Parts: sequence; structure tokens; C-alpha cells
Amino acid sequence: MIELTNITKSFKKNEVLKGIDLQVKKGEVLVIVGPSGSGKTTLLRCINYLERPDEGTISVEGFSIEGKNASRKDILALRRKTAMVFQHYNLFKNKTVLENVMEGLIVAQKMKAAEARALSVDLLQKVGLSEKINDYPAQLSGGQQQRVGIARALALNPSVILFDEPTSALDPEMVGEVLAIMKKIAREGMTMVVVTHEIDFAREVADRVVFMADGVIVEQGTPDEVLAHPKHERTKQFLKRLV
Ligand code: ADP
Repeated sequence: MIELTNITKSFKKNEVLKGIDLQVKKGEVLVIVGPSGSGKTTLLRCINYLERPDEGTISVEGFSIEGKNASRKDILALRRKTAMVFQHYNLFKNKTVLENVMEGLIVAQKMKAAEARALSVDLLQKVGLSEKINDYPAQLSGGQQQRVGIARALALNPSVILFDEPTSALDPEMVGEVLAIMKKIAREGMTMVVVTHEIDFAREVADRVVFMADGVIVEQGTPDEVLAHPKHERTKQFLKRLV
């Protein structure tokens, strides 16, 4: 489904990704963990060119883009295969919950309003927000706003959903409701790449865990291999600090 080959990225002199190779299979839930500043979010954002890699190839469902000089048309084609759930939700504040979910369907997919509305209502029901469809984001809790973010991502019918620390901006009591929805989507077979600090989520839901540090993948494997029996000292140190 996704194949990244030798992705590098620097911000000025700061070399943030140092040649990343990564594959994600269809239906797989891949969770990326690692210390702050190790390049996890930058890598995730490279997958749909929200960040342009300096070098390397990104391939999603057979569609490939190479290096940093990709055309606008190619980038849009790549983005149509992916959806992103952001740490800070990124909802339109002046649109209702329902309109937030419908927007992408009408603008990007040119769907008729009635059809977009019906699909959006279904998806909002799926994330438990049927009662809130006519509210504005400011009237919702953080957890509810993030569930709108997830419904919006699902509406795009993407090949993969990219989650960028989806629970880190939430109050602790709201983390569970968002993780529960993510778990449900994972069980339904959605391909997911998740950057998170929620190690319990990784342990329970990930098919594969990638541990990144200093712009490289230090190790990867099943949750049991990486989180319970890490091979590398760097991983052991990271996990020790979490308990
Ligand atoms: P992580 O997600 O693992 O915490 P990030 O990918 O967010 O790591 O950041 C990796 C490094 O890249 C950090 O040193 C960060 O300061 C830097 N960085 C990220 N985005 C930018 C940007 N837009 N401009 C400059 N530096 C950035």
C-alpha cells in the first residue's frame, strides 16, 4: 500500500530524516513511536507531501512520486489516496460538524450535496456524534472535535489514514473515546499509520511498531518484539522512561 524509499529531509542544517525506508501493507496498522524531535511527524507528513522530502520515493497504492520537485498535479493525486487526522483537529470553525465532514466530499470529490450529506450523517453516527451534527466545533469537547476529524478523514474514502498524534492535545479523560474509534476503524481493516505516545494503544492495536530516534528507524517489529523485548539500547532507554 505504501512504500517509502530512502526519504531524507532537512530543515536548514537540521537533518531530520536520514534515509528512511518503510513499507506498509494494505489493512496494516503501523504505529510510530520515539522520543520527541526524532522526526516522526515529519515522516508522516512526507507521506502525503505536506512536507516535501529532499530525496527519496513515496509510493501509495502504486502511484509514485520522487524527490522534492513533484508537480502540483502529482501531489494532488497522491493526497487523494490519503487522509490526515491532525493533533489540533484543523476543523473549519465557521462550519457545523456536518458541514465539516461534507466539505471534502463536495469540494474534492464533487459529490452531490444530498449524497454527501447522507454519507456524512452515517459517518458521524459511526463516531458517536449523531446528536451534534448541527453544532459548531467550539461547542464540542476536544475529544468530540477529534472524532469529527476522524469522520472527515473516513469520508474521503482514502487508501490510508495518517494520524499525527491524534490524542496529544486532549485532556486525559477524552483520550479513551478517540482511541476507541481508532480501534474500531482498525478492526474494520483500514490501513493506518499512527504517530502517538500512547504505548498501550500501540501494544493493543498495532500490527507493527516502528521505533524512531534521531531521524532513523532504530527497530521495528510486532508490538511484543519492539515494546516487550526491544533489542536496541536506545529503545530500551525510551521505554524505561515511560514507566
Ligand atoms: P517528532 O514528531 O518525532 O517529535 P518532528 O518531526 O516534529 O519530530 O521534528 C523533528 C525535528 O524537525 C525537530 O528538531 C523539529 O524542530 C524540526 N522541524 C519540524 N518541522 C519543522 C519546520 N517546519 N521547520 C523547521 N524545523 C522543523
